Amino acid sequence: MENYINEAEQYLLHTYNRYHVVFDHGDGVKLYDTDGKEYLDFVSGIGVFALGYNNKKFNDVLKGQIDKILHTSNYYYNVPTIEAAKAVTKASGMDRVFFTNSGAEAIEGALKTARKYAFLKDGKNDHEIIAMNHSFHGRTFGALSVTGTPKYREAFEPMIGNIKFAEINDLESVKALVTDKTCAIICETLQGEGGIYPIEEDFLKGLRQICDENDALLILDEIQCGMGRTGYMYCWQKYGVKPDVMTTAKALGGGVPVGAFLMTEKVAQNSLVAGDHGSTYGGNPFVGAAITEVFKLYDELNICENAKVVGDYLFAELEKVKAEFPEITAHRGMGLMQGLVFDKPVADIINNALDNGLVLINAGTQIIRFLPPLIITKDDVDVMIAILKEAILNAR
Ligand SMILES: *Cc1c(COP(=O)(O)O)cnc(C)c1O
Repeated sequence: MENYINEAEQYLLHTYNRYHVVFDHGDGVKLYDTDGKEYLDFVSGIGVFALGYNNKKFNDVLKGQIDKILHTSNYYYNVPTIEAAKAVTKASGMDRVFFTNSGAEAIEGALKTARKYAFLKDGKNDHEIIAMNHSFHGRTFGALSVTGTPKYREAFEPMIGNIKFAEINDLESVKALVTDKTCAIICETLQGEGGIYPIEEDFLKGLRQICDENDALLILDEIQCGMGRTGYMYCWQKYGVKPDVMTTAKALGGGVPVGAFLMTEKVAQNSLVAGDHGSTYGGNPFVGAAITEVFKLYDELNICENAKVVGDYLFAELEKVKAEFPEITAHRGMGLMQGLVFDKPVADIINNALDNGLVLINAGTQIIRFLPPLIITKDDVDVMIAILKEAILNAR
C-alpha cells in the first residue's frame, strides 16, 4: 500500500489531502484495501454507492450493456437512456431531463436554463441568481459561482457574475436580495458539503412563494440529499415543495459517473432548445442502463424505506453519542445523511476510525459526516458507533 501511495503522490495533481488507504474492492457495506484489510463503509464514495458495493444484478446489467454498445452520441436515440429518462422523471415527478456526466455539469445546465427562461421574457442579459451561504454546488465556474464558501472561489475570480448570497432559513435575507432581475433561487434541500445544514419547511415554502410571485425559477440541488438518502426519493418530496428545476447525480448512476437536471414542462417549453446545450457523453447507453437498473433496484430493495428506518435509528444513536462526549457541540441531518459537529478538527478521529476498520468522512474541518450505503442495517450502525466512540476517546 505504501508504494501505491508514494506513486500516487508523485503523479496525481495534489488537489486532495487523501486518507492513507488504497481501496481495492468492495462488497455490500464493506470495503477492502490492497493489503486485504476489511472496513465498514460510512461514506459510500460520498453518497454514491447507495446500493452498496458489488451488487450482482447491477454489475450484470453493466456487463451486458458493455457487450452491446457503450456510446452512440446524442444525435441518435438509444433505448437504455429512454428507459432511464422515464425512470428518473417518474421518481421525481419532473417532466423532462437532460443527462450530464457529473453533478457540477447538472448545475451548469440548471443555471443556463434559468438564464434562458428569463432571457426569453425580456431579451436582457442582466439577470440575477440568489444562492445560499454554506452551499456547495460543484467546482466548474458556474457551479462555483453559486457555491457559498468564499475560500473555494477566491483564487478563481471573476465568477459568472450577478450572484447574490442569502442565509438559509432566513427568508428576510432572501427577500432583501430579490429584484426585478432575479431569475432563479438555487438551494440544496439539505446542505451537504457545507456542513449538513437542513432547510426548514417554512423557508422552503417561502422560497417557492417568492419564486412564484416573481416568475423566478426555484432550483433545488438534490445531488447529495436526493436518491433516497433522506428517506424520500428526493428530499423536497418530504415537504411537498416542488422545484421548477432539479439537479441529481451521485447515487443516480450507482458508481457510474452521471448527473442530470430536470424541469417542469412549463420551463422546458420556455428555455433551452436545440443548439442551446449538449454533451458528447451525457446519457449514453452505458449510463442509461446503469440509471435504469438503479431505479429498479431501489424498488426491489425498498431503499427509501430502509434509509428512513435505519436513518431514524442512526439519529437516536448519534444523539446518545453526543450526550456522552462534551467535545460534540451539535448533531444535524436526517435519514442517512447526518453530521456531528466537534469543538476541534476531526481528522484525528477519522484516522483512528480508519485504523480500526471504519471509513468516515468530514464536511469542513470540524464535522464528521455520515453517508453510508442506503442498504445498511441497524447492526452496522451499532458496529460503527462502537468504533466511533473509541476513535473519539483516542483522539483526546
Ligand atoms: C457533490 C455535489 C455537487 C457536485 O457534483 P460533482 O459530481 O462532484 O460535480 C453539487 N451539488 C451538491 C449538493 C453536491 O453534493
